[in-house]
Amino acid sequence: MAQNEKPTALIMIFGATGDLAKRKLFPSLYRLFEKDRLGDFAVIGVARRSLTNDEFQTSVNQSVNPEGVENDKLKEFVSKFYYHSHDVTDSDSYASLNTVAHELDNQYNLSGNRIFYLAMAPEFFGTIAEHLKTDGLTDAHGFKRLVIEKPFGHDLESAKKLNNQIRTAFTEDEIYRIDHYLGKEMVQNIEVIRFANSIFEPLWNNRFISNIQVTSSETLGVEERGRYYEKSGALRDMVQNHMLQMVSLLAMEPPISLTTDEIRSEKVRVFRALRPIKGNEVNEYFVRGQYGKGLLEEKKVPAYNEEDMVDPESNTETFVAGKLMIDNFRWAGVPFYIRTGKRMEAKTTKIVVEFKDMPMDLYNRQEGSVRPNLLVIHIQPEEGITLYLNAKKAGQFMNSTPVKLSYANKGIDGLNTPEAYEKLLYDCLRGDATNFTHWDEVALSWSFVDNISAVWEKEKEQNFPNYEAGSMGPKAADALLDKDGHFWWPVTNLDVEKC
Ligand code: NAD
Repeated sequence: MAQNEKPTALIMIFGATGDLAKRKLFPSLYRLFEKDRLGDFAVIGVARRSLTNDEFQTSVNQSVNPEGVENDKLKEFVSKFYYHSHDVTDSDSYASLNTVAHELDNQYNLSGNRIFYLAMAPEFFGTIAEHLKTDGLTDAHGFKRLVIEKPFGHDLESAKKLNNQIRTAFTEDEIYRIDHYLGKEMVQNIEVIRFANSIFEPLWNNRFISNIQVTSSETLGVEERGRYYEKSGALRDMVQNHMLQMVSLLAMEPPISLTTDEIRSEKVRVFRALRPIKGNEVNEYFVRGQYGKGLLEEKKVPAYNEEDMVDPESNTETFVAGKLMIDNFRWAGVPFYIRTGKRMEAKTTKIVVEFKDMPMDLYNRQEGSVRPNLLVIHIQPEEGITLYLNAKKAGQFMNSTPVKLSYANKGIDGLNTPEAYEKLLYDCLRGDATNFTHWDEVALSWSFVDNISAVWEKEKEQNFPNYEAGSMGPKAADALLDKDGHFWWPVTNLDVEKC
């Protein structure tokens, strides 16, 4: 579908009274509507609670427009929302859902196009997908697409089981697995920065790059998600999906073209080249952490093991740092360091590409006036790129000084901003699956992560908690780079003169 075409579809949101629907999906759909990007559409909200259409429309209105400002456009938008009270485990209610879907399809001329968005806990995904098929909801005459949220399984085994279930009703091409990082402006920009600039692509390899660092840190703790997080931890919650996705975009070969298949197949090749880290190597290549109490913005915050629904003896990691090696011609020998954690000093996602030093030290590097060239990609909350160079210090002598060239995007503050969802929803409506994860990526990333969790689950970490809330993680994460002669570039105020 062309970039400016207006897609038409019936969108069914399962879990329509939940947090994701209210905070992300309704506002994102509204933005698309406001920008006139949507053709004919209607939405059926599905959830267990009993609500009338009017009550549901009021809740959609509130989530899009919390200030309650009167607005005709919004009235028109909200009028296209319908509610169907339905327990997804109850086989009987799918038939009546299908009747409503047919009626709306006719009423709004939706050409039998259907999007099923599962904004619910993953244990329901398989059941819903099976019912959608057996009860005829997938038999409409237009396209059918399934959108599912993370987590996609808990490990490779459970992900395979889930995939087999949903594949009974949808082909791989019809499955849109959301990784909202792939909807972020600067994550999408990684490809453009790399493949549209002749000054970068020739240098983007092990001859010129010393190491790449990807940090995604949060200041929040687990909040009310303790029960979920205890079973997940940072490795499954962040590394298996978002962190490895960013690494694959940084490391992939240039695709032959920008089609979904070409881009995805290059990303899959990165996952295939990722060196498996197993058994004894795990603690050599990976560091886990759990936050203790500490100070954040001058407020005392509790330790992870004091949070609600968390075991006081918890072995769950809230921080992971790791060294990834991509064993192919381009990247042999270049470490990709990743780190992610909760209750850290700053909320930020950043990529630092550190280039190798010049072969000869003409300008007295030891004195700190010459630094390695760095390309920093700011993903969030700021969005932009900074290139750190060395230039002559003004004056009589041939001294050098670090300078930086910056480009700032006008970003929107906040992890998970509706912007990412807006783009991803629009892609899905247009049938563009490029920024969604293919099953091969999911399977390969789980097999990588499973080797690490196997060791961590077997060996309880005796030193938890091992980093203070408000810090940049455990000391061992610094030692991980130190033993290779590297260090983490600061993520806040990355001013070379201060490093
Ligand atoms: P939530 O608990 O707020 O909402 C769950 C929804 O499912 C509610 O509408 C509830 O009524 C409905 N539901 C539960 N059991 C049901 C049943 N048997 N039949 C019918 N409806 C039922 O959850 P959420 O935060 O909106 O998250 C939904 C999914 O999205 C989860 O998989 C979560 O991991 C994922 N996710 C959420 C966010 C977020 O920001 N909230 C971000 C990323 C991923």
